[in-house]
Amino acid sequence: MQGEYTVLQEVTESSSLAISAYNAEWKSHHALLSFMSNHNETVLRKMNESESASGRPYFIALLTSGCISISAEALFQNMSQDDQKINEFTDKRGKRRSQNEWPIVYSKEYDVKLCGLQKLHPFDAEKWRHIFLNLKKENMLSDETVSTPVEADAEMLLLVHTQKYLNSLKWSWKVAKITEIPAIAIIPNWIINQRYLKPMRFQVGGSVLAGELAIHRGWSINIGGGFHHCSGNEGGGFCSYADITLLIKWLFKFYPQRVKTAMIVDLDAHQGNGHERDFFNDEKVFIMDVFNREIYPRDSPAKEAIKCMVELESYTSDSEYLDLVERKLERSLHKFHPDILVYNAGTDILSGDPLGRLDISAEGIIRRDEIVFMKARERRVPIVMLTSGGYLKKTAEIISRSILNLEALNLISR
Ligand SMILES: [Zn+2]
Repeated sequence: MQGEYTVLQEVTESSSLAISAYNAEWKSHHALLSFMSNHNETVLRKMNESESASGRPYFIALLTSGCISISAEALFQNMSQDDQKINEFTDKRGKRRSQNEWPIVYSKEYDVKLCGLQKLHPFDAEKWRHIFLNLKKENMLSDETVSTPVEADAEMLLLVHTQKYLNSLKWSWKVAKITEIPAIAIIPNWIINQRYLKPMRFQVGGSVLAGELAIHRGWSINIGGGFHHCSGNEGGGFCSYADITLLIKWLFKFYPQRVKTAMIVDLDAHQGNGHERDFFNDEKVFIMDVFNREIYPRDSPAKEAIKCMVELESYTSDSEYLDLVERKLERSLHKFHPDILVYNAGTDILSGDPLGRLDISAEGIIRRDEIVFMKARERRVPIVMLTSGGYLKKTAEIISRSILNLEALNLISR
């Protein structure tokens, strides 16, 4: 511990120099490295530098006293107010985003309340609220520190959807077809808009905000979103808006210098045919999709858009699945270095899920999320996670545990 204390003190004393070196050139921390080497009495045998997922410098020092990590938090402890603003920004909807907020996005508007009809669909309509409440109970999030989105409005939606498609949602039978709940066809459309489409639009706004947060903070999680069966022209499989396509197009449009390419890593149990149809023949977007080939949507034309496709048999289990995910993701990131990674983290791969029909344990899901965050961080690629499908009652608890695990491993931090 003596070694760690000495180094942390040195780092704190040198933090103003660190910040100026950091601000002077985003990628270079050499000034700080040489400062530390010259001034630190502890012998630094070897120092590796890399950048943390949050976009801050992150140093791993191997000291004679053993291997320790100096977190970015210690480095930034004594920063001036001005310096701290590097992680604050105003989003494209005009809201100031503070560094005190976690880049975890949620709104109480997310939950679907369709007069009890949602219970007819094998879907936990309160999954999102349950995840938030779990993270609150564990003292990770609070109402003040969660990032809250605004509802996606027509201007935002028209970046992806045609007016014709948006108009079609004014027909209850159309929404009944998308949600696969026939009874919706006889509910007045204004109720459907308020109780189902509006929550979905909040989740879409959440995905877009998560995209912006990832650009500024290095990572983000939208507790909702991940509607991967919806394309610009057509909804389906409970997905009414194409939030994945929208988030990518939003970043291309508003952050053209920082985001020129994107990778979608779709690990929901179902094929992500919505974004695949939208990015067909688009060289700027690399799609990796791992799905059960024996279930919905079996969209063969859309498969043409997948650059790395892994088709699973029903009841594939942990070891085979995790090995495939790790190897294929490594290979994909080797081939294509994206400016943003959109991780569609569906949990319908869970053993016992009647729709996903795979055999992955809760621990397998947690390990999967860990692998994806680790790979993104190794390559310094900002990552956005969307929770997507996952229909069992225990899903919310597993997602919460996974997020807490990412924090415990320091793969995410405020
Ligand atoms: Zn799914």
